[in-house]
Amino acid sequence: MGTWREDCSHPATALHGIGSGAEVPGGIGFISIDASAAWPTRIARCATRPSHLHRRQGIRSQPVDHRASARLAHAIFRLRPVRSPGAPGSEPEETSHPARCGQRCFCRARRVLRVSDIHGTVSARIRIRGWTRSGAAGPLAASVGLIPRVVPLCEAWAAVPWLAVMLVGTLRAARALPHYALCLARPTNHLVEVSLELTPQTEQLVLALPSWTPGSYLIRDYVGKLERLQVRQDRSNCPITRLGKQRWAVRCDPGTPLSIRYGVMATELSVRTSHITAEHAFLCPASLALRVEGLEQQHHTISLSGYPEAWSVFTALDPCPTPRGEGFGADCYDRLIDCPIELGPHPSETIDVDGVPHRWVSWGSGLEPHLAALRVHLPRICRTAAAVMGTPLVSSAYLFVTHLSEDGYGGLEHRDCTVLAYGRRRLGKPEGYRHFLQLVAHEYFHQWNGKRLSPLAFDPIDYDRETLTASLWFVEGVTSYVDQLIPLWAGITSREHYLEDLGQDISRYLDTPGRHIQTLEDASREAWVKLYRRDRFSDDAQISYYLKGQLVSLLLDLHLRSHGSSLPTVLRTLWQRFGHVEAGYSEADLRRAFVAEEPGLEPRLASWVSGLDELPLADYLQRVGLRLEPAGCPRPFTGLGLRSSPAGLEVKRVQRDSPGAAAGLLPADLLIARDNLRLREPEAFNAGLRSGCPIQLLIARADQVFSCPLVPGEEHHSSHRLVCCDEADADQRALRETWLSATALGLQYLGRGRESPAGSDGKQLSQSGRVS
Ligand SMILES: [Zn+2]
Repeated sequence: MGTWREDCSHPATALHGIGSGAEVPGGIGFISIDASAAWPTRIARCATRPSHLHRRQGIRSQPVDHRASARLAHAIFRLRPVRSPGAPGSEPEETSHPARCGQRCFCRARRVLRVSDIHGTVSARIRIRGWTRSGAAGPLAASVGLIPRVVPLCEAWAAVPWLAVMLVGTLRAARALPHYALCLARPTNHLVEVSLELTPQTEQLVLALPSWTPGSYLIRDYVGKLERLQVRQDRSNCPITRLGKQRWAVRCDPGTPLSIRYGVMATELSVRTSHITAEHAFLCPASLALRVEGLEQQHHTISLSGYPEAWSVFTALDPCPTPRGEGFGADCYDRLIDCPIELGPHPSETIDVDGVPHRWVSWGSGLEPHLAALRVHLPRICRTAAAVMGTPLVSSAYLFVTHLSEDGYGGLEHRDCTVLAYGRRRLGKPEGYRHFLQLVAHEYFHQWNGKRLSPLAFDPIDYDRETLTASLWFVEGVTSYVDQLIPLWAGITSREHYLEDLGQDISRYLDTPGRHIQTLEDASREAWVKLYRRDRFSDDAQISYYLKGQLVSLLLDLHLRSHGSSLPTVLRTLWQRFGHVEAGYSEADLRRAFVAEEPGLEPRLASWVSGLDELPLADYLQRVGLRLEPAGCPRPFTGLGLRSSPAGLEVKRVQRDSPGAAAGLLPADLLIARDNLRLREPEAFNAGLRSGCPIQLLIARADQVFSCPLVPGEEHHSSHRLVCCDEADADQRALRETWLSATALGLQYLGRGRESPAGSDGKQLSQSGRVS
C-alpha cells in the first residue's frame, strides 16, 4: 500500500486500508475504507472536502454524504467532467493511464476524504482518480478508488447497497442542518449568546471549537471565552462529557430537534478575535461557532438578532432564509469560518470593479480624507493584482472591513473579504496612505496566493491543532514582495517611493541578527511558537518569513528576469497547476516550479530557503543598476534600541553579543543618566559617543537603581537606502525598466474590461499621500 502510506499525514502509523470503488452510471463515486485491527481505536471522523477539482481539471467531485462507523468510513460523490483550463469548450486534457487498458486517465485527484481515529491523532487521506471508459468524448463515466489498488467489478457492485443507504441518509440529513442563532442584545457586557440548533441523526454528537483561525498561526484557545454550555432537547438537558479542552460529547435522541446554547465573551479587538461594544460588533466565526463533527460539509446557516436598528450587517456570507428568518448561509463549515461579520452604523460604499462589487466599510474615523483617492486607486489595485496572476478577478463580490484606531496595524485574508486594522497616527504620516494601499494590495492578493493557491498542509484545515508547513515564506513573502509592486505597477506610487520602501525593508533585515540563527523554512514551521509569540529578544533568534520571504522573492524575481522569465510567470504556472483547481502544493512542487523556469535556481533556492548564508542582495541589485548604500551618519555600535516613554528613556531592545548586552542591560530598563547628566531622549544618549570610550550609565530596573559602564563598539550605519547607479550599463537599465514597469512586464488584465493594469491617467501620489 505504498501510495496509501505516502498519503498518510502520519506515516509512522500502521494503517491498513482497503479501498473499493464503483463505476456507477450518473457519475456517482464511492469510497470506502475499512480500518483493520491495526487501527488503534475506532474511526471517529470522516470528512470530505466540499469541491475538489482534480489537478489536471478533468473531474469535479462534489461530496454528497460521508459516514463513519466503528471500522468503516464511506463517502459518496457526484462526479462530473469540467472543461480544460487551456481550451475553453474543448474536452479535458488527457494523459494515458498506466494500469488500465482501454481507459484514459483525465487527472490525478487530490485528497477528498479524511478519516481519523477517536483521538484525532491519526489521519489518512485518499486520492481518487477518474477516467473515461472508452476514451471517447462525451459524458464521463467515472470511478473512484484507493490508489494503487485496482478494484474488481464484483467488489464495486458490492458498494451499491451502501450507496442506497447513504442517499436515504442524505435526504434525512437535510433536516439536520446546523443553524447558529446569534443574539447581540448585551453589547455592554460584551456577550454574544449563541444557540446552535439542529436535529441529530445519531445518539452522540461531538462538538468542538476551533483553536485557531486560518491565516493567523497561533493557538488562540478561543474556548477560553466560552461559557455556560448547555444542550437542551425536548425540554430537558442532555448529558455532556468533556473530551478535551475544546471538545465535548453530547448524548441525545436521534431525530429530535436539539439546541446547544452558550455564551462567548467578545472582548478582544483584533482582526482574528471577536469584539462587541455599544459602537460595533466584529464576529470572528472561529471564536463563536462550535463545529459538529461529521456535519462539516453540510450547509450551515446563521442568523443575528438583538442589535440596534441603526446597525447594518457586513459579511461575505450569502444571504439566505434560515429557521429563524432571513440570515446567511455557508456551503460548509470551512466557508462559515472564513467569513467574519461586522455590524454597526458604519458608512459603507460599493466600488464597482468591472462589474464586480467591492464593498468598503469602515469602523472608526481617519480614512475620510483619503476616500476620494481610494475610489480611484482601489479598482487599479484590484486589476493589477489579477494581472500579476494572469487571471480575471476571482471573487464575484468582495468585502473590505476596515478598523481604524489610534495605532492599529494588520490584516487577515479571507477568500472573499479581508479585515484591515490601521492606525490614524500612521495614516497621518506622509507615507501613511501609501503603506495603507500596500496593506490593501497585500490582503487582496491573498485571494490568489494563500487562499486558493495554498500549501497542501492546509488541505483539509485542522482546527484542533497547529499545522506545520515550510511554505509560509511563499504565502507571505511573495505577497509582501508583490504588495509594494502592485501600487507601483498600477501607476499609483512612484519608483522613488518603491525603492525607499524596499531600502527600509532591507535595512530591517540587515538589522536582524536572527537571520543567522533561523532558516526561512524553519521560520515558517515555527510561526506558531516564534513569529506569533514575539518578545523583545526575538530579533536575536528569529527572522520573519514575511521579511526574508519578501527579499528572497526579490532575488527570485531578479534572477528569473535576468534569464528572460519572472516571478509572475512562476506564479501563473503554479496558479494553473494548483490554484485554479484549488489543489494544495507541496514544498517540492514549489521548488519544481521555480527550477523548471530556470534550472540554475535549484542550489540558490535551497540555500536561500533552507540555509543561513547571507542573501546575495548586493549582487542581484547590481543586475538592475541599484546599489545599497549606508544612510545617515555612522554611530558607535551599542546594540541598544531606545525610546522616550512617560517614565523616561526606556531600553526597547538589547542585541545579543552587543556592548549593551555586555553591560548587562535588559529591555524595559530605564536609562536615568549618562556620565551624571540626566537622559530623556535617545539623541542625548547618542550625542558624543566614541568607539572604545566607556560611558557610565545610571539605570533603574523595577525598584532598584544602579550604575554600570558601557563601552561603545565600532562605528556602523543602522540603515541603508537604495540608489540608482550612475554607472549602470544599458543592460542593467533595461532589466530595471522591465522589472519596475507594468507595461514592459506584459501584465495582462483579463477582467471584463480587458483594460491595462496601470490606469491611463498615470496619476501618482505626491509626498503628501494624496492624489496629485
Ligand atoms: Zn499576508
